[in-house]
Amino acid sequence: MNQYDYIIIGSGFGGSVSALRLAEKGYSVLVIEKGKWYHQNDFPKTNWNLKKWIWLPSFGFYGIMKMTFYSHIGILSGTGVGGGSLVYANTLPKPKASFYKSGNWAKLANWEEELAPHYETAKQMLGASLNPNLETGDNILKDLAKTRNQSEFFKPTEVSVFFGEPEEEVEDPFFNGKGPRRSGCTFCGACMTGCRHNAKNSLDKNYLYLAQKLGVEIISQQEVYNVVANGIGDGSQGYTISAKSSTKFIKKHQEYKAKNVIFAGGVLGNMNLLLKLKEKSLPKLSNQLGKYILTNNEALIFSVSDDASKDLSKGIAIGSIMDVDENTHLEVVRYGENSGFWRLGMLPNVIGNNIFSRIGNMILKYFKSPIKYLKLAFVKDFAKQSIVLLFMQQIDTTLQFKRGWFRLKTGISHGKKPSAQIPLAYELADQYSKLNNAKPMVLLTETLLNMPSTAHILGGAVMGASSDDGVIDKTSHVFGYKNMMICDGSAISSNPGVNPSLSITAITEHAMSLLPFKEKS
Ligand SMILES: Cc1cc2nc3c(=O)[nH]c(=O)nc-3n(C[C@H](O)[C@H](O)[C@H](O)COP(=O)(O)OP(=O)(O)OC[C@H]3O[C@@H](n4cnc5c(N)ncnc54)[C@H](O)[C@@H]3O)c2cc1C
Ligand code: SF4
Repeated sequence: MNQYDYIIIGSGFGGSVSALRLAEKGYSVLVIEKGKWYHQNDFPKTNWNLKKWIWLPSFGFYGIMKMTFYSHIGILSGTGVGGGSLVYANTLPKPKASFYKSGNWAKLANWEEELAPHYETAKQMLGASLNPNLETGDNILKDLAKTRNQSEFFKPTEVSVFFGEPEEEVEDPFFNGKGPRRSGCTFCGACMTGCRHNAKNSLDKNYLYLAQKLGVEIISQQEVYNVVANGIGDGSQGYTISAKSSTKFIKKHQEYKAKNVIFAGGVLGNMNLLLKLKEKSLPKLSNQLGKYILTNNEALIFSVSDDASKDLSKGIAIGSIMDVDENTHLEVVRYGENSGFWRLGMLPNVIGNNIFSRIGNMILKYFKSPIKYLKLAFVKDFAKQSIVLLFMQQIDTTLQFKRGWFRLKTGISHGKKPSAQIPLAYELADQYSKLNNAKPMVLLTETLLNMPSTAHILGGAVMGASSDDGVIDKTSHVFGYKNMMICDGSAISSNPGVNPSLSITAITEHAMSLLPFKEKS
């Protein structure tokens, strides 16, 4: 059995940054990833190809996106070598000042100042570029900003996409020729089903690619299910990590040894694993584990039009953003043509204190515009005739993950729980839809159950001064154990109010920059 200096569990943003930076410092590194390797031609053409789009192993679906529903929240997350970067919408906004000043981590450092250089590195590594092409959905957002006298708060997004000549393959444009060959974006809008044009800067095209060149090993389709601290059990003598096949019916088990372990399985991966390990092999993990789960206070509202001449699918997945106020951002999000899966769960968005008033208000809406809603149910190409409005807020609403009988369950640890019905989000969706000659619609879980959905689940292993108020310290090391770190979305300690991948990358860059180079033996 090989002994590695570091084993990293998960290959998303936190895991990939860690892999490259540790290899550069001379350490031997193994990355274990539950999902599959996806290459350009492996991605599905549309999101109707559920086998390649959705991760649901019990159905034989080994795709790049996982949907998980709990009693308080529906969560979208990524799976595969490159984690959420395979399915994400490439958008890399930097949070406002309030992000660094709320939550338990705020008192540990002047984060805005300390992280500033790491945000720059993160942007450069992820190839952040300004979207050069505003399309129909973006221009409607621009009009919305104008209507609200907020024109100066509308802007194109910075995204991790290569904007060379469409489909023309060129030498690596980002890393002085050390990276892979790339092709220019075609603005097909399909980023969230995986880029089939080699234009999206997913992590396998930057951090992981460069890490592999330095000798980092990546094992895919293996899920870590146990981590044991060797010898006296405080981590000083390293760890034994057990994994099993995640895609085969007959599960092959494998053990690995490492001096250090980094948990980078994303919030759901980490909480599933760490809450279980706290009850078994790692009892000294902080009691704060699973608390301060943040949802970015999000609302995902579709604006659906019955005008078949419209094509809202062209452009990059998120082409523009509007700063609605100090704490609030709105983005327009699109899928590529024929990707109409979400039409299956659409209902009108309505406000109401309980399920009966919401159903009553919904019937009223159908009653007022029956023909319109009938037409919306049968639109020709849902992706061309709809756009998703992604509303995000810095305001801290929190949940808690706990171990349930069969799987994790959610609860409320303190403060307000996230709600699907955010009046400001509904006001903006109504205004946008008027300009779009469309109707706002939401997932039926929102209208019927008041259950919000998020693609940006964060926290659960937040920073603190001690294990009394956090799971990790300001360097991302775990309280209670030596040689153990948590580097990914679960370490994010307050709501960024914007898409979080740039922040996860920057915070991991910061943590890695503090580690020493490997001593020569
Ligand atoms: C549809 C969609 C669109 C999005 N768009 C954006 C966007 O535009 N901008 C943005 O900033 N963010 C976006 N996000 C969010 C972004 O993808 C996540 O915030 C980000 O990927 C989280 O990074 P991470 O490092 O926490 O882990 P992840 O990227 O979630 O990676 C964790 C990896 O660990 C693996 N894993 C988990 N448990 C185990 C285990 N036990 N053993 C082995 N492997 C394991 C998982 O399979 C996964 O690949 C989007 C998300 C979705 C779903
Ligand atoms: S718009 Fe199309 S080509 Fe451009 S990055 Fe997204 S999926 Fe790739």
